[in-house]
Amino acid sequence: MKDTTLILLAAGSSSRFGLPVKKQWLYLGDRPLWVRVAEAFERTAEFARIILSAERGERNYMSRFADYTFVDGGSSRQESLTKALEAVETPWALVGDIARCCVDEALVKRVLKRKGEAACIAPALQAVDTVYEDGAPVDRSRIRLIQTPQLSRTEILRRALAEAETFTDESSAIHALGEKVLLIKGSPRAHKLTHLEDLRRLDCLEAPSRENFTGFGLDIHAFEAGKEMRLGGITIDAPMGFKAHSDGDVAIHALIDALLGAAGMGDIGEHFPDTDPQWKDADSMELLDAVLGRIRGCGLEPRHADLTILAQTPRLGPYKEPIRRRLAKTLGLPPARVNIKATTAEKMGFVGRKEGVAVHAVATLGIYDWRSAL
Ligand code: MG
Repeated sequence: MKDTTLILLAAGSSSRFGLPVKKQWLYLGDRPLWVRVAEAFERTAEFARIILSAERGERNYMSRFADYTFVDGGSSRQESLTKALEAVETPWALVGDIARCCVDEALVKRVLKRKGEAACIAPALQAVDTVYEDGAPVDRSRIRLIQTPQLSRTEILRRALAEAETFTDESSAIHALGEKVLLIKGSPRAHKLTHLEDLRRLDCLEAPSRENFTGFGLDIHAFEAGKEMRLGGITIDAPMGFKAHSDGDVAIHALIDALLGAAGMGDIGEHFPDTDPQWKDADSMELLDAVLGRIRGCGLEPRHADLTILAQTPRLGPYKEPIRRRLAKTLGLPPARVNIKATTAEKMGFVGRKEGVAVHAVATLGIYDWRSAL
């Protein structure tokens, strides 16, 4: 199918879904749903290119999972599709929604087989329920419910989407241009994952894997006299704080890097560059919350964390327990799943000379089990 590009729309915010994780990031087995959908399409035909329309902040992360072309999504389906079409170089574009996650491979083949017969080929179902319009029943044999994926002539689709009107799919946009739309037999399996209850109805959804992922983080900060010392999310009684662009909470920074490492999301500097004035004097606990939000949104959750704080001064013994409780609460874990250790450096090196503090952190993430929400 070197004359056809596959576009999968995965930029949705899942606002109707009601879970911390976005539906494209629900794990089925050991891979997120969007990867499984793309792989199912790949099995049905060879495409010139596979383009995924993704939320801007997730594009980089998605590109770590698979070797597709990722483009920034827009604020609506139509805008996302328009942007994705800019990367299409073939005469035909097959457009699918990640939300139709139980890909019926026979249906995809049926759509592709009719290539050339119309400007748009769309699968459709007959209405099986009685249909009313404005309070009166209508002849349901004339009703068709349109599904995806739809195969469109790229040039015609580009022109159709450029119209000012808002369309809910390609077939209606192309129909509005006066071009031919061919409706073919759809699939009752191709239901959309829209609401939480749909997770119960869709039969293709494999349970998430029980794998864990471990990450390591290390951070070092020098002391700065006269600054409040923040460590592990609490205030320490000390005559100095840490020299930093943010509040300098070296323990939280190490923990953030451990969490990002476990998620495969890079490092703290990529997420909060210290050249960005937005993070000047930032409360590190807010950075941690932001990172946890992103991790949870992408289908993972904390399971355990262990930190070792290397400090010759101040004495941290009395603070270990408050830090442990504070971090457990923020991570959403029972206190026993967080451990804090403190050690001196036996007066050796920069820690021993009381120039600063180093923190090592290890964090474990698990895959969010969406079945617990059903
Ligand atoms: Mg730091």
